[in-house]
Amino acid sequence: MQVYGVIGDPVEHSLSPPMHRAAFKSLGIDADYSRFRVRKGNVKNAIKGSKSLGIDGLNITVPHKETVANLSEIEKVASAKEIGAINTLDLHSMKGYNTDVIGARKALEKSGTKIKNKKVVIVGAGGAARAVAYGLADKALSLDIINRTAEKAIKLAEEIGDKAKGHSLEYNEELIVKADIVVNATSVGMKEEKSPFPVDYLHSNLTVFDLVYRPIETHLLREAKKRGAKTVDGVSMLVLQGAESLDIWTGEKPPIEVMEKKIRNIL
Ligand code: NAP
Repeated sequence: MQVYGVIGDPVEHSLSPPMHRAAFKSLGIDADYSRFRVRKGNVKNAIKGSKSLGIDGLNITVPHKETVANLSEIEKVASAKEIGAINTLDLHSMKGYNTDVIGARKALEKSGTKIKNKKVVIVGAGGAARAVAYGLADKALSLDIINRTAEKAIKLAEEIGDKAKGHSLEYNEELIVKADIVVNATSVGMKEEKSPFPVDYLHSNLTVFDLVYRPIETHLLREAKKRGAKTVDGVSMLVLQGAESLDIWTGEKPPIEVMEKKIRNIL
């Protein structure tokens, strides 16, 4: 039997175990997937121990993605190298990947949203915003990153390069009014009827992508729908980043619909 898991702290909330178990079942793969709470300072030992135990692969979640990317034993592949954060580890090859980057891009593309030459506004400058920024930077015309702590947005934009600019969370009406795509990469909207910016800025030419997936339909998405905007919820990215992990570990075509149905049923 193959064994996989997710390490993080906290990790009880993770939806990865039911999603991957459903995928393994659908593919007829004899495998299990568990949650492991790992404290800061124990990450390196946890990975060494997992390899010794014969565990096949791990997902890495908050707050350990950057720590794992800094371990010399692990080879960072593609976007993991660029963004310095690993969320998927193949314990056989000891290669680390970041599937959030591709999951974010694919979630938008799956909704029929074109990214090429579009004006993108990302709200937030934490780990998820980084993944989105790197995932969309190639194709987008411009990336405006706005954040409560403006310095973090400015720093992220500098890393991305010429097409990105960082701003504070205030005074962003014009940016959103002129945007084609707005991404909420803050935790605002999770378990609260709030948007990170005034919903009056929303309009019908926008695609609004909310990374928050609890609840599936956030206040921001509901208000965006009311104003005729296209909406993309956080479940889509959650599933597509998980599907990329599954592909890396097994080489099998991920059963995306099965994985998505499982998550939507739970939520
Ligand atoms: P993080 O690194 O802790 O960053 C949190 C971000 O939210 C920061 O930009 C922070 O601003 C901002 N923020 C928090 N509270 C705020 C408030 N009251 N007002 C304005 N801004 C606020 O977290 P993360 O890992 O990037 O995750 C962000 C969200 O994305 C979470 O809800 C997470 O569940 C979701 N997510 C979803 C997926 C998916 O697959 N759908 C994947 C990853 C993450 P400051 O910098 O000023 O603190």
